[in-house]
This record gives sequence, structure tokens and C-alpha cells, in this order.
Amino acid sequence: MSLAIINGDVFGIDEKNIYVEGNRIKKIGEIDSLINKDTTVIDAEGKTVIPGFFDSHTHFANMGLSMESDVSDCRSIEEVLGRIKKKKLNVVHGWDESLFREKRYILRKDLDIFDFPVIAYRVCGHLAVLNSSAIENLDLKELNPEFYDLERGIFKEENLSGISKMYPKSIEDYIRGIENSTKLAYSLGVTSIVDTVTPRIFRAYERLENNGKLGIRAHLYMKAKYIDYVVKSGLSRIGSEKLRFNGIKIFTDGSLGAKTAALSFNYVGTESKGTLIYENEELMELIKKTDENELQAMIHCIGDRAIEQVLDCLEKIPGKIRHKMEHVEITDEKIRERIKKLDVPCSLQPNFLKWSENMYVERLGDRASLNNRYRKMMEKGIKMGFGSDCMPFSPLFGIKWAVNDPYGEGISVEDAIRIYTYGSAYLAYRENDLGSIEEGKLADVVILSDSISSEDIEKIKVEKTVFDGKIVL
Ligand SMILES: [Zn+2]
Repeated sequence: MSLAIINGDVFGIDEKNIYVEGNRIKKIGEIDSLINKDTTVIDAEGKTVIPGFFDSHTHFANMGLSMESDVSDCRSIEEVLGRIKKKKLNVVHGWDESLFREKRYILRKDLDIFDFPVIAYRVCGHLAVLNSSAIENLDLKELNPEFYDLERGIFKEENLSGISKMYPKSIEDYIRGIENSTKLAYSLGVTSIVDTVTPRIFRAYERLENNGKLGIRAHLYMKAKYIDYVVKSGLSRIGSEKLRFNGIKIFTDGSLGAKTAALSFNYVGTESKGTLIYENEELMELIKKTDENELQAMIHCIGDRAIEQVLDCLEKIPGKIRHKMEHVEITDEKIRERIKKLDVPCSLQPNFLKWSENMYVERLGDRASLNNRYRKMMEKGIKMGFGSDCMPFSPLFGIKWAVNDPYGEGISVEDAIRIYTYGSAYLAYRENDLGSIEEGKLADVVILSDSISSEDIEKIKVEKTVFDGKIVL
């Protein structure tokens, strides 16, 4: 099986043609002699051809599942019921009676056409309607009677906590989630991702891979609470071309939105600097244990105080494993210098810049300008990868923000694409196989609708996606 992309403006090199055999790029440049009657030929018509995007921070399996349970676009109760029936969903989210033809809430009696438990959350998230089968599973004595109405099946506020935990997702559910997200990924030119998983989500990826059905290159990490499970089950950094287990995700602080990211200064209008999750020694032990088991630590640190705590630990680790930091939002010259010196790669989310003019200023005041300084990090020579954290899942949206930085410190489109491909591949130990269009590398290639020099990046669409040597969009 062979594929040829001709007349492309190939990113990063001065060539027009790419020849793919099987799932790898065999030749770039003069490929006429290789094309035969069985070769599929794509004429790129001068458009930009880039390596598939590598999103270095997603919640991929869960994103695909929530896509399925989302009924916020439904225009009638009937339509919601149809969705539930089609996929046998226990939980749906986002219904809004103001959009319904019926102009009323969904009620217990509506959902009672199903003989399995159903919970339908209203768009506000503060109210849900349950059918009889779901209500039967509840211990009403545990609930606050002020916040439920059995006849209508309505449950509100504090009574909602714990209700959806009664319906844990199965491996099959997560398989559907991964498949849904994979379709979305192709439409956005994403061919590789990082996902933070539970053991059950891990099994879902594994089952897809074993059946030859995994359609994305997945690089998986498990939260620190699973470290003993990981060590005991012997999961190592070895994997296939599509599925890799890489290591342990460690949270060291919270978020700026929730004012829980650990800063060296107070949040505006408060006496609070946010919170570190670990004592120094605890964090050191955890990173050490990860390192000794030859696993990669993926360390969430947003505030400067958290970042410095992580750097203090990494300073004492031998440097054999490529431990990386996630988000790394608040930095100054001194911190960037330390990151560079220790050569810690950083996974960054340029789409977060969308909060620069409101949320970040409200939380940080003048210091908002310390946030997400990509050009300064790049000039310092820090190794960077880009990801979306699914807010939203879209590399071109993130690239738009990285280029049009609100503080006038944007980076070039070329650099942004390089970080979103090669940069992210490096962070996951895949730079030898992925992240650039080179002979011998895996054939994950995307054709864009417009030239990347285009002023308005948002106008650019993904026209074609090739994954593992096959056209998937
Ligand atoms: Zn995340």
C-alpha cells in the first residue's frame, strides 16, 4: 500500500512531494519513480502540509464520553429521549427547557419509558431528573427532603453529589469515548495525544490496540494515587507505535481560576497565596519513586511557588528520565533560567491565553503579565510542547493565541506549529518517530486549507488527515 502527496508546501523543508509506504514516510522530494498504479495520489495544490498535531495534554477518553451524553443541542424532550434510547445512556447532561418545543422540564414519567436507570442533568448542573429505576437505587434517608420532588423525579443541589458516581463507566463506555474523540481529532488534524487515565481507561486503550482498532497515538499517564498499582503491574515505558504508557501524573497545586494555584504573592483582594499539595519531602519521595521505576513524571505546577518547589526536587534527581512540567504558567526571568539550566521540558496550553484580559487580571492584577510567556521561554531555549487540556480541544485555536499574544509577545506561526508537533513529541519520547515530516518517520500528515502565513489563523481548516499511512479525513 502506498500513498503520495504531491505539490504540497511541506512544512519545515523546501520540498513538494512525500511518498508513504505502509505507515512510514519513505521518500521526500523526487518521488515519480516510486509512484505506481496502486499508489493513491493526493494533489495538495500548493497548500501547507504539516506533521499531524500532537496534543500534549488532553482528557481524551472522557471528552469523547461527554460528547455522547451532551444533549444541550436538543430542541424537544422527545429528542432527548431518542438520544438516551439509541445509546442506552445512564447519564445525560445539558438539557434546557427554554429550548424545548414543550417548554417544560423533563419529568420522571418521561424517563420511565426506560427500564434502566437514567439521570438527566439540566444545563445549570444544579438540577437533575431521575427515572423510577434510578430512584430505586437511592437511599432517600441519606438525602435532604428539601431538595427533591419524588413525583416529578427532580433532585437538586447537595442531593446530586454522589448520584452519578453510582454509575461507573465500563471499559466499553471508554472505548466509545476514545472512538468519538478520535473522529474529532482527525477533523482538527490531531494524530497524537497524551491522556491521563485510570486503570480502566488504560484497559480500554489496550483493548482497542489489541484488536487493531486504536486510531490515535496515545501516550498515557496515571495519577500518583495509582503508583503502587503501576509498579506492581509492571507497566513500563515500552509500548507499540500507537500505544505507550509513559508515567505518573503528579499535581503540586490547583488552578488560577479556583485561586488554588500556589503563588509567591497574594491573589488580588485576598490574603491567600494558594496551596501547595505536598510538603517538600513528600513530593521528593514521589518523584524519586517514579524515577527509580524508570517512569516519567508529568508534574502539574501552575503558580511560581509550585514551579520552584518542583525545580527544587528535580535538581536532586539524576536526570536520566525526561520528567516534564505541566502548565508552568507563572514564571519570571529567574525561574526560566532555572528551568533552562535543569533542562526540564514544559507542556504548555496556549489556548489559556484567552483568559488574559479577564480571569487572569482579576486573579493576578499587574502580575497577569507574568503568565504564559511563551516567547520569553523560547528565547531562553526551554524545551516546550503544546496541548489544549480540551479547553477547547483544537490546536489551531491554541496557535491563534500563541501568535496573537495579548501582551504583544506572540511567537511565529511556524514556531507555534513546531511546538505543537515536534515539541510535544519530544515531551513524550517520540521525537524519533513523530513530530516532523522526515524520511523514516511514521506517516501522520495533515493538509491545511490555507497557507499558514495567513493573517487570520482561525480561517484555516484541516482539509485532509493521514494517520499511520491511511487517509482518515
Ligand atoms: Zn488537564
